[in-house]
Amino acid sequence: METNEHRTKTLEIVNVFKNSNPWQGNVEERGKKFQKCFEDLKKVYNKPKLKLIISVDSKISNWHTSAASYFDIRRKVIVLNGRLSVITFLHEFAHALNGHSEEKAREWSVDIFKEVFPDKFEKLNHNYNMYIKEKK
Ligand SMILES: [Zn+2]
Repeated sequence: METNEHRTKTLEIVNVFKNSNPWQGNVEERGKKFQKCFEDLKKVYNKPKLKLIISVDSKISNWHTSAASYFDIRRKVIVLNGRLSVITFLHEFAHALNGHSEEKAREWSVDIFKEVFPDKFEKLNHNYNMYIKEKK
């Protein structure tokens, strides 16, 4: 169950993430920014067992899509594959909080993304389904 306090802290953390410029740097540098954000979010939601695995393989990082990303509910691991995507990261984190519900994952991640990255959201808006196509 998410409270207003959770939401406020989440927005603070994702704003810090934004200021670190998650689109800047090589995959490894960017990955560290994602991990930092992830560790902070874990604390907010008291999910110490969650793990985030980011593919830093340079071949994989050239993929145009983040579609191979997923949350492994049994192992409690978020795996980000292919293109390192902020919206995908938030989407998979939402699955870690809410389980399988696609609707909830979408709602949460879009809300946060829209609030923190309004300019990026404009571009993302109509293409959301292209970004988030998970393997099942
Ligand atoms: Zn999903």
